[in-house]
Amino acid sequence: ETITVQELANRMAARVPDVVKSLMKLGVMATATQSIDADTAEIVVEEFGHKSKRVSEGDVEIGLEGVVDADADMRTRPPVVTIMGHVDHGKTSLLDALRSTSVAAGEAGGITQHIGAYQVTLPSGERMTFIDTPGHEAFTAMRARGAQVTDIVVLVVAADDGVMPQTIEAIRHAKAANVPIIVAINKIDRPDANPTRVRSELLQYDIAVEEMGGETQDVEVSALKREGLDRLQEAILLQAEILDLKANPDRSAEGAVIESRLDRGRGPVATILVQKGTLKQGDIVVAGTEQGRVRAMLDEHGKPVTSAGPSVPVEILGMSGVPSAGEAFVVVEDEGRAREIAEFRQRRLRETNAVAGAAARGTLDQMLARIQAGEQKEVALLIKADVQGSAEAIQALVTKLGNDEVRVRVLLAAVGQITESDVQLAKASDAIVVGFNVRANAQARALSNRDGVDIRYFSIIYQVADDIEKLVKGKLAPVH
Ligand code: GDP
Repeated sequence: ETITVQELANRMAARVPDVVKSLMKLGVMATATQSIDADTAEIVVEEFGHKSKRVSEGDVEIGLEGVVDADADMRTRPPVVTIMGHVDHGKTSLLDALRSTSVAAGEAGGITQHIGAYQVTLPSGERMTFIDTPGHEAFTAMRARGAQVTDIVVLVVAADDGVMPQTIEAIRHAKAANVPIIVAINKIDRPDANPTRVRSELLQYDIAVEEMGGETQDVEVSALKREGLDRLQEAILLQAEILDLKANPDRSAEGAVIESRLDRGRGPVATILVQKGTLKQGDIVVAGTEQGRVRAMLDEHGKPVTSAGPSVPVEILGMSGVPSAGEAFVVVEDEGRAREIAEFRQRRLRETNAVAGAAARGTLDQMLARIQAGEQKEVALLIKADVQGSAEAIQALVTKLGNDEVRVRVLLAAVGQITESDVQLAKASDAIVVGFNVRANAQARALSNRDGVDIRYFSIIYQVADDIEKLVKGKLAPVH
């Protein structure tokens, strides 16, 4: 009644690590050679967008029609953009200004509604999608749930203020997610604007704009005066072209939940971003532990639509409950199947929660298992130390500890106590936090316990090296 992870991956023509990751999302820990039960296999198969069929009790057959997307079926899709930057540097103003450039905004006539994301259609017909929740908190929270929705980050830096703490955090989050950055130097209308200073300050954070000999695009804008918006949009389209973003629109839909809420009159309302395929009214969807038939779909103008293709955000009505932001959604064959998957996930969730402290042990144990199974090629670390010298020394030391199988990647080496933002970043990147002569503050501790992020404290440098070396070899003992 079982199938090995390897076999399942083979049948789906998927990579083993991707299957392992998908299993982990279901709360199932398994390596390539381990077996999983047919129920679990079916859900994974569904998650990968395949149709599955039980040929005999326990054996799962995977139908591949229209699911492994053939190159010939792939079409260019609009880029999905998140705006990040320091508070008051103009993120909200820029989102509003960009929204007003859409030719669709006028023709809809209606008031634009906040649904968590919106699409801009340029006069040329080209489109781009903006996530309407600025800042890196939402971005990181989504990533922590496994959703990678953002293709491009627009980093807003006020020309009169320069690089500030949240600018630096945004850079780190974007880099950790391997998402390319376009710099929007905002407020150039201000008399004290100094864009050159912004460009040179960014160099310290490994962002070299073209004028500084680098490859990051930068655009001077004024969200207030609505200047430079066309050039920013050109930069986004150019970056999208480089990324060669494609999806198959002619298949059942998959995507991520952007926002959700319980509406008094309409019940659960979820904004979802379609990432693959086309979502149609009447489709049956599962998102996290919730499911339902799409009763109605609305765009950002509150206008009913009957279908939504790749990179299109829509509000959907008809879910059984309110799914969490960042949760994946997938269209399934029928209501029975949808309920089955949702119930299975609810059961898993209860089981996972029931195992006391499971979350706290989760990340590291899973990481070690993956390393031992040869499925993890990289160990990510976030280093916080009391002085810059120590942070740099540890970074240099641990980077050398990687071997042919596992590389060590330092996401961040900085001075100061371990904060919530550090834990969020670690969670989203599957990283371990190394504290050297510093501690985590109360919020960070609470979050790390909840999310199972491993924080390790040290006061002797060679002990850091010792531990990380063991980790790279898959032999580190958990601290608990
Ligand atoms: P956020 O916190 O990053 O979302 O920033 P906001 O969009 O709320 O903008 C903060 C302040 O900066 C507001 O008072 C805006 O009116 C102002 N602001 C935003 N963009 C510009 C701009 O291009 N020029 C000027 N002069 N002020 C701006």
